[in-house]
Amino acid sequence: FTGFAMKRLNEVGWVEKEKPECGRRDAIVKPLALSPCTSDIHTVWEGAIGDRKDMILGHEAVGIIDEVGPDVKDFKPGDKVIVPAITPDWEDEAAQRGYSSQTTEPLGGWKFSNFKDGVFGEYFHVNLADANLAKLPESIEPETAAMLSDMFSTGIMGAENAKIKVGSTVAVIGIGPVGLSAVAGAAILGASRLFAVGTRPNCVDVAKKYGATDIINYKEGPIDEQIRDATDGAGVDAVIIAGGNMDTWPQAVKMAKAGSKISNINYLSGADVVPLPREAWGCGMANIDINTGLCPGGRVRMERLASLVEYGRIKPELLITHRFKGLEKVEDALMLMKDKPRDLIKPVVSIKE
Ligand code: NAD
Ligand code: ZN
Repeated sequence: FTGFAMKRLNEVGWVEKEKPECGRRDAIVKPLALSPCTSDIHTVWEGAIGDRKDMILGHEAVGIIDEVGPDVKDFKPGDKVIVPAITPDWEDEAAQRGYSSQTTEPLGGWKFSNFKDGVFGEYFHVNLADANLAKLPESIEPETAAMLSDMFSTGIMGAENAKIKVGSTVAVIGIGPVGLSAVAGAAILGASRLFAVGTRPNCVDVAKKYGATDIINYKEGPIDEQIRDATDGAGVDAVIIAGGNMDTWPQAVKMAKAGSKISNINYLSGADVVPLPREAWGCGMANIDINTGLCPGGRVRMERLASLVEYGRIKPELLITHRFKGLEKVEDALMLMKDKPRDLIKPVVSIKE
């Protein structure tokens, strides 16, 4: 079958592969809706995880089951499923300690388009189907649900890791699709004043719809100063980093109060050392903590996110700005993600059953 792959660093193209074999507890899935991720761009064009040879890209999918192994209990061919970007090895000790995205090695729960073929092919393999697939509720469009596998799971984790309490003030830095999902997560968890740092008009519009109360333009001066000014010097209870660069880190510390959590969900690339401002960080004693995490995967996570959609708490479809039809269009969708035109939030590719 064919798939769209990273051929080597800085090069993508179509490849022919053997249909993957289905293990006893696994599934083979055909895509119904696919979306490229900014992480695919870091992987191919920034070498963020090193070189890869002919690895099919993509880790955001909704699909239809083609085949299941004999030990799979809850899924059968023909079922429509949400496929989490992260498909952990649930028996691993890291999963038992509560860190399922880090099973077997750091980031080891992230298999698709990291160290195994991703979802941009006619077929893809899912390990541990009962634990790593979720049924697609009939009321949710596949394209909408594709926004859950990585974007909403990651963004909401960003808000969870920021330990937002009812009434917390929150800043979300970077409002691409990941940051916007974090805005939605912060609102659900009870943020009061919710600053969204960004400039693109589409993103600003969705940020407001997702619950942002204030928009900060990082092109109009240091964002820590803008947020300090807006809060009479107080700063915020929680900072979620979902974009920006190495200069963002000192700014995040400078807008944080004592007790504040800085929650990073950005995939850092472009520098080897992350700078923290010693003095603003209370010489390392300011009770300003940094939490990190990789998108949570697995069935329960996807079912919970889907129920947020079903009961009207989140509207993932607002992230979709560009729609394509046919697997061959994943190439265009990925290049759009690379070029990031100003009106882009997320592209989605629909594939007929
Ligand atoms: P994006 O590029 O669409 O959004 C990032 C936003 O940050 C952009 O709108 C950009 O204009 C803005 N920005 C740039 N400089 C800024 C600055 N100085 N201050 C504030 N904002 C600034 O990307 P995305 O698709 O939303 O993804 C965000 C990041 O999350 C990427 O690095 C992606 O790889 C990563 N990611 C992480 C996980 C995870 O599991 N932790 C999962 C998915 C994606
Ligand atoms: Zn991703």
